[in-house]
Amino acid sequence: MEDTSPSKTAEIAARCEEIFTDLDFNAARKWKAGKPGRKVIGFMPFYVPRELIHAAGALPLGILGGGDQLEVIHGDAYFQSYICRIPRSTVELGISGRLDFVDGMLFPSICDVIRNLSGMWKLMFPRVAARYVDLPQNFDGEVGGEFYRSGLQELRHWLADIASHPVTDEAIRASVAVYNKSRALIRELYALRAAEPWNVPSAEVYLLLRAGLVLPVEEHNELVRTYIDAARSRDRPFKDNSRVVVSGVFCEQPPLNLIKSIELSGCYIVGDDFMLVTRWEKSDTAEDGDPIAALASAYLHNSLSTSAKYEPDAARKGAYLIESVRKNRAEGVIFAMPSFCDPALLERPMLQNALKAAGIPFIAFKYAENSGQMQPIREQAGTFADSIKLWSGE
Ligand code: SF4
Repeated sequence: MEDTSPSKTAEIAARCEEIFTDLDFNAARKWKAGKPGRKVIGFMPFYVPRELIHAAGALPLGILGGGDQLEVIHGDAYFQSYICRIPRSTVELGISGRLDFVDGMLFPSICDVIRNLSGMWKLMFPRVAARYVDLPQNFDGEVGGEFYRSGLQELRHWLADIASHPVTDEAIRASVAVYNKSRALIRELYALRAAEPWNVPSAEVYLLLRAGLVLPVEEHNELVRTYIDAARSRDRPFKDNSRVVVSGVFCEQPPLNLIKSIELSGCYIVGDDFMLVTRWEKSDTAEDGDPIAALASAYLHNSLSTSAKYEPDAARKGAYLIESVRKNRAEGVIFAMPSFCDPALLERPMLQNALKAAGIPFIAFKYAENSGQMQPIREQAGTFADSIKLWSGE
C-alpha cells in the first residue's frame, strides 16, 4: 500500500511538539482568554479525576515539569540535592510566572515530594488555590472506596467554588462520557502501535498524549482520531527491531530525545507507563447512576496495575508487567526511571525478580528530565536489542 498520509501524521506530530515545547502554555492561555470567567486547574502526575474539573467548566492542565529546556535557577534553592528534578522545575515554572494564569493546582498522592510540594505551593503562591489529592491505598469498596468517595465530594465542592460553577451529577456524567471517548481512542492508539510499531513511532504517540494534557479533551479527541486514521494508511518500512515495554516513566518525564534514542537504537516501544492519567481506567467508567461512585469504583477496581498503584498481594507484584509483555508481544523490558524516584526505584527489585522468574530479559537505567547525553542510553538499549535478537532462542 502506498503511504498516503505522511503529511497528516507529521503535521499532527509537529503541532503536538509545538505544544510540548511551549513552557508558557499558550494553548491553555488562549482557551482561557476565549471566554470570560474560564478557569484553569493544573495537576501534577500521576492521576487526578479530570472529569470533575471538566464538569466544573474548567480546563485540566497537566504540569509535567520543565523538561530539558528550562534552566532551573530558583527551584534548586528550595530542595536538597538528592531528590528528583520535577519539583524543582515545577517551582521554577511557578516563580518565573509561567503558571500565572492557573487558578488552582492539584497534587496527587504519589510520593512525599509531591505531597510536600502541595504545602509549599500554598505558602509560595497564596493567591492560587492548591489541594493535595489523597488517593486510596486500600481497594476495598467499603474502606478505600468510602474514603475516596468522600474525597471526591470534597474536591467537587472545591472546584465548584473556584470555577463559580456548580458541579452537578448530570455535568459529571457528561464529562465521564467525554473522557470515556478519550480513553477508548488512546487504547485504540496503543493497540495500533503494538500491532504496527513501525507505522506508529512512540515519540509521536508520546507527543500526542502530552498535547492531551494541555488541550481541551474534545479537541484532543478529534486530534487522536485524525492521527489514528492517518497512521492506519501509513506504510513505513518494517525493521527487525526488538519489541520492548518501558517501565517507570509515570511521573518525571524523560527528555523526548531519550524516547527517540531507544527507538533509534533498534527497539520498538510497544508498552509503557507514560501519562497514566490518560488511561488509568482499563475500560469505560459507568455513565449512569451516581457519578461519584462510578469514578471511585473505576479508580479502585478497573485500573491499570503499575508501580504507581499499591499492590497489597505480594504474589501479584510484577504480574501486570508480565501481562503487558505478553499482551504486547514484547521481548524485553527497559526500566527507565527518574533518579531519586522512590515509587519507581523501590519497586524495581521486585519487578526484576518477577521478570527473572518469567524468563523475560530486562535492562535498567536512570534519567533526569534534563539528561543531555543520549549516547550511553543508545548504546545500552542497542546492545539490549541485539542481545534479544541473538540469544532469545527464537
Ligand atoms: S519523580 Fe518520583 S520521587 Fe519525584 S515527584 Fe515523581 S514520583 Fe515523586
